[in-house]
Amino acid sequence: MHESNVRVRGERLLADLAALARIGATPEGGVNRPAYSDADLEARQIVRAWMRDAGLAVRVDTAGNTFGRREGADSSAPPIVIGSHTDSVPQGGRFDGALGVLAAIEVARTVRDAGIRLTHPLEVVDFQNEEGGLVGSKIVAGRFERDALALKATSGRTIEAGIALLGGDPSRLDDARRLPGSIAGYLELHIEQGRVLERAGADIGVVEGLVGIRYWEVTFTGVASHAGTTPMADRHDALVAAARLVSMVPAIVTSTPGRQVGTVGRLAVFPGGANVIPGKVVLTLELRDLDLAKVGELFSAIEREAHAIAAATGTTVSLEPTHTNDPSPTDPIIQQAVANAARTLGLRSHAMPSGAGHDAQNMATIGPAGMLFVPSVNGISHSPLERTEDHDVVNGVNVLLAAVLELDRTLS
Ligand SMILES: [Zn+2]
Repeated sequence: MHESNVRVRGERLLADLAALARIGATPEGGVNRPAYSDADLEARQIVRAWMRDAGLAVRVDTAGNTFGRREGADSSAPPIVIGSHTDSVPQGGRFDGALGVLAAIEVARTVRDAGIRLTHPLEVVDFQNEEGGLVGSKIVAGRFERDALALKATSGRTIEAGIALLGGDPSRLDDARRLPGSIAGYLELHIEQGRVLERAGADIGVVEGLVGIRYWEVTFTGVASHAGTTPMADRHDALVAAARLVSMVPAIVTSTPGRQVGTVGRLAVFPGGANVIPGKVVLTLELRDLDLAKVGELFSAIEREAHAIAAATGTTVSLEPTHTNDPSPTDPIIQQAVANAARTLGLRSHAMPSGAGHDAQNMATIGPAGMLFVPSVNGISHSPLERTEDHDVVNGVNVLLAAVLELDRTLS
């Protein structure tokens, strides 16, 4: 059979997804497998067994990531790496991460069953602790700060203890590092976790990049005083000022075309008494887009508005940047391979950014990286209601397979 006619076995993959979802299963139909929990370890052990069954040589790196490798025809070629993560958020869904790992194993099985000889080695990865800050891929990319080892993860274990639990060695994390140029490419299949594909009527999302995020802390300062004895005209109410700004953020963010998003997610009111005029409000602002210059322009508009509001309400305002996550563009060759694969399979693809963080952004620092999305029903994710239709799951895995076959020819 010609390579372009090879398809994955959908039922086998769907059965694996159902089986993995039993590890840490919740009564609501989701999974609870936070990083370094007993369920997290159990899921990884099953994944390792499935990798072995797929004919892959299994290795746990010192960071606790699991890799399964199939050698290529060219022993000096760097590997094509595919995969995702099997840890979940607390009370999460069955697809986030798990789909990408099991899809990668299914691709490896299909390659073996069809007797396809790839030029590059093929590596399947199950990254550890994606949900707690992309920890496993950060270590691989050399972007992890050792101080963070002492932090407690949601499971209650520290990152250090968790790495040891998964079979890693926290005292030798540098051994897990992969240097720039040491991989031919990285491709991750993931659920979209939003409604863009559903709305566009598309089967496959070609991820153009992972958005950058800038965060600020905004403080309005007024005068706290008695809610009964201070006439309305004499007030300097920090919450009235903050409320106006909060309502202006969506207006400003949508004032120019594009897919940028902006959010005020937290607001603290001081002193916080029912009978006290708020003297101070601290709120968070985050803005996301693939283009940080655009984020900068939006922020300038919000900043101008904040000062105008402060002047009008007799308060003062300060806007302090807290941190920035740089955007991470995906590689054009990988985007093209995903789009080509979808077209060959008769599927509709749609180019889009990823608004969420993924391991691909760390892998992008060591080689060409990309992602493909499959639709999430109603855009729901990080929830037991998270769902992707069977046919979308199988389509996504066939696109992953076809893209890997093309990348094996086009990547160096
Ligand atoms: Zn994920």
